[in-house]
Amino acid sequence: MTISPDIKQRIQLLRQQLQKASYAYYVLDDPIMEDAIYDQLYRELEQLETENPQFITPDSPTQRVGDQPASQFISVTHNIPLYSLENAFNLEELKAWEKRWKKYSKKEEFTSIEYVCELKIDGSALALTYENGLLIRGVTRGDGTTGEDITQNVRTIRSIPLKLNLDNPPPIVEVRGEAFLPLDEFDRINQKREEKQEALFANPRNAAAGTLRQLDPKIVDQRRLQFFAYTLHLQDTGIKTQWDSLNYLQNSGFLVNPHRKLCQSLEAVADYFQQWETARKDLLYMTDGVVVKINDYALQTALGFTQKFPRWAIALKYPAEEAVTLVQDIIVNVGRTGAVTPMAVMQPVHIAGTTVQKATLHNSDRIAQLDIRVGDTVVIRKAGEIIPEVVRVLEELRPPHSQPYRMPDRCPECHSPLKRPPKEAVIRCMNLSCRAILRGSLVHWASRDALDIRGLGEKIVVLLINNQLVNSIADLYYLTPEKIADLERMGSKSAHKLIEAIDSSKQQPYFRVLYGLGIRYVGSVTASLLAENFPNIDQLSQASYASLSSVYGIGEEIAQSIIDWFSIEKNCDFIQQLKEVGLQLETTPPKMTTVEVSLTSFSGKTFVITGTLPTLKRNEAKALIVEAGGKVTGSISKKTDYLLVGENAGSKLTQAEKLGITQLSETDFLTLLKSD
Ligand code: NAD
Repeated sequence: MTISPDIKQRIQLLRQQLQKASYAYYVLDDPIMEDAIYDQLYRELEQLETENPQFITPDSPTQRVGDQPASQFISVTHNIPLYSLENAFNLEELKAWEKRWKKYSKKEEFTSIEYVCELKIDGSALALTYENGLLIRGVTRGDGTTGEDITQNVRTIRSIPLKLNLDNPPPIVEVRGEAFLPLDEFDRINQKREEKQEALFANPRNAAAGTLRQLDPKIVDQRRLQFFAYTLHLQDTGIKTQWDSLNYLQNSGFLVNPHRKLCQSLEAVADYFQQWETARKDLLYMTDGVVVKINDYALQTALGFTQKFPRWAIALKYPAEEAVTLVQDIIVNVGRTGAVTPMAVMQPVHIAGTTVQKATLHNSDRIAQLDIRVGDTVVIRKAGEIIPEVVRVLEELRPPHSQPYRMPDRCPECHSPLKRPPKEAVIRCMNLSCRAILRGSLVHWASRDALDIRGLGEKIVVLLINNQLVNSIADLYYLTPEKIADLERMGSKSAHKLIEAIDSSKQQPYFRVLYGLGIRYVGSVTASLLAENFPNIDQLSQASYASLSSVYGIGEEIAQSIIDWFSIEKNCDFIQQLKEVGLQLETTPPKMTTVEVSLTSFSGKTFVITGTLPTLKRNEAKALIVEAGGKVTGSISKKTDYLLVGENAGSKLTQAEKLGITQLSETDFLTLLKSD
């Protein structure tokens, strides 16, 4: 991160904050921030320290493995430390890791490398010692070097054998694995705690760690912890690979996660990782990635460990839906309804598969609530590919002398005073001739679900307005290729194409025109309803409040908004202009113009939804698909029939393009649904 003028100060703030978080997490089992946020702040500190090694101190969180054990139990020094795992978040980072270990091994050629992929269970690591087949000790990971002896508690975990299921057990063996709380058990425990008004566990991982440290084994027994074994430390057995050791563990009576795979390439690893990205959500326990381990023990031994990690393993983690970044600026955006929306402009950050730089701050109330300032470190969220929003400000990392943000009182575009209408949270520019409103209206008019004018995006709209070629939507239809050919980066060919696209928008059905008008609360579903019930614009413009609100699906707010819209003279003139230009202002039998497929039934078709749909919520779209006999999945594959695309579509759109999957806008989708 580059914005902070004082790197040393930033390092100190990060260190303090991470130390606090680490203590709360490891010692108190009561985290004060989300894991993903901790990881990102940690990475930032690591990067700053790498770039500025003079500032590294021995007490920095980057210089140790875990945290000190809590004091109630007897400390035990691990024979072999329990290391942490290096993290990777994508195939590139995985490849970089492979390159690093290959370089370290100094071997010229590797004919075949095998990797074992195991699901990364989000629990708490344990080291179990068996003497002549009997469990004699169970120890927590602690700081990696020293853990706590919690044998009594470990003995309550049913999936940990007290006696190994082997005819000739070895004199001594150490088994490592993950203790975790299944999700239903986690919910049950938290529910009980809620009833007793006790503090709730933040997540299953902390609940598992907290349970293992209970002083009363009876309580541990009541909470049904589980254990997956994944590491075997056994001398002289002839086992030469991780894969075989997992089978050995299974045969010895341990529960070994059945979801594992032996991969011959990193591409196969990446496929496995992708496959589990959605599938893991159906598991009954939490996972946060895939652990990739070199299968061959001889190679593992040759590579050894860094101060913190084994060189032969890495955790490939799923992208978080939350991220931390720095606010570089706060700007306001005037939309087509005149609504003024503040936005945070941030240092670009990768989140849920895309890079984002702007997040909505909604309105002045939200700004005041967050007390967000330029220079702040913020947590942003992009759940389910919706436009990112700022969740909270990490005030502890705020630079000194920052100033609270004040919303402007004049429109940044036309400088007329902004007003906050009664009972509304947003402030608005009330000047109907404001260029920002015109710009927003034109972009909406040309959008995929409205008139779908390909090539008429925001950049061209701005050029048309700035060159005074367009002062209203109707003006678009008087443009000629000659008039626009001189615009920046246009040229004669694109000019002809754009004019053709504008021209053919005259054939778009009436309900799309209705949606394009941008009447408040009239989304594409409402526009279809209106077109069905008021088959031409004159009937609609004269419709009474009673007849409008008697239509099933048209509420009072929508009805009033339509009446208000048609009562403005400027809008009636606009409709007249559209008539003159030749747009469709009455219902004609539906034509399938945008989708070249003819779908007789949704039955058996697989849909994926991406981005924000203009009117339908995801679960509404999903319900419609399911009702019509289709199904919805979370990720694109060759089996996907349709991708339903909204705004700010993420990586699924790129994947669908690669696989040539038919894309549908919400309007296409609704048209198909009607014709079904
Ligand atoms: P880690 O959890 O990222 O990875 C290492 C651990 O993975 C191992 O110790 C083991 O317990 C576990 N694991 C699960 N399945 C495994 C498998 N199949 N094979 C091998 N290991 C497997 O690293 P860590 O050092 O245990 O902890 C660091 C993590 O703790 C960070 O990612 C961070 O999110 C979290 N943390 C959070 C906070 C907070 O405030 N929220 C504070 C400190 C640390």
